[in-house]
Amino acid sequence: MDISELGEFALIKHLTEKINLKNPSTIKGVGDDAAVIVPAKEKKTLVTTDLLLEGIHFDLTYVPLKHLGYKAAVVNFSDIYAMNGQPRQITVSIGISTRFKVEDLDEFYSGILLACDKYGVDLVGGDTSAALTGLTISITCIGEAETPVYRNGAKETDLICISGNLGAAYMGLQLLEREKRVFAANPDSAQPDFKGKDYILERQLKPEARQDIIRLLAEKNILPTAMIDVSDGLSSDIMHICEQSHAGCRIYEDKIPIDYQTATMAEEFNMSLTTAALNGGEDYELLFTIPLADHEKVKDIEDIKIIGHITQAEAGLALVTRDGQEFTLKAQGWNSIS
Ligand code: ADP
Ligand code: MG
Repeated sequence: MDISELGEFALIKHLTEKINLKNPSTIKGVGDDAAVIVPAKEKKTLVTTDLLLEGIHFDLTYVPLKHLGYKAAVVNFSDIYAMNGQPRQITVSIGISTRFKVEDLDEFYSGILLACDKYGVDLVGGDTSAALTGLTISITCIGEAETPVYRNGAKETDLICISGNLGAAYMGLQLLEREKRVFAANPDSAQPDFKGKDYILERQLKPEARQDIIRLLAEKNILPTAMIDVSDGLSSDIMHICEQSHAGCRIYEDKIPIDYQTATMAEEFNMSLTTAALNGGEDYELLFTIPLADHEKVKDIEDIKIIGHITQAEAGLALVTRDGQEFTLKAQGWNSIS
């Protein structure tokens, strides 16, 4: 159905009427001139925004709209977790060209609302406008934290930790881009065979934010000295921590966690696995530093790996390779949904 058939008000109603508010801090959601939120006592309010433009941040030739909605919400939640916070509300603003039908927006919103359900977040408002071309999405997320963790608190001798594994989303993107080129060259070619590639595709198309890691750190009484979510790639993101903390670092190549599917795909593409893990981006893992004294508390956690340590600023930022050579880390950030 064309959006013009419904009109703006009916469209908003249609997209938001199934919302059940979950958080006690949400007093009023969609429907008035503004949403109303009560800030929790003893907590600080966190606010983050992401702007996503079709053709720049996402490609609808291989990204289903439901996945896009899910990912657009999750990357915002990830920023709140990276502050040691909990996301509570989002607003969603969209610019839509006539190419998009009501059914497309249904798909998109079903992805957003699925992410909201999973992470306990309320969709409380937004804005809607016609656009000349493409799809524009801006999501703002509001969260809360008792003790926000910044990028600037890393100290010499702190351990550098990473959750999950790196490079998978990037290899998933390489695979999707390759299949897009194959299809463009020969539209009659057979459907691509994605067998054995499910994990890297999921990491690209349906990433998750590490709510579980924030919970685990609280349970184990670990307060990171600095934290960031890996959206641009390990290399760029550790640089942000070091720059703001006035520190240097050593990252050990052999300690970087990489999934088997990521490794297989890198080999198929003849790509350096370490480069993919360092510069890939869109992993949405948590990169954080902890005092050396907390080593015992993290060393046996399955999903957290210690990959290096913080040094004095004068020592610079370096990757220590398997054979003990040191290379200066460079920012070759990956810019996509971020
Ligand atoms: P206004 O003219 O005050 O901007 P709108 O008609 O744009 O009001 O919005 C009416 C209500 O619908 C508001 O509560 C607003 O937050 C909500 N809303 C508008 N667009 C969206 C959207 N794309 N997603 C969710 N809520 C929306
Ligand atoms: Mg409006």
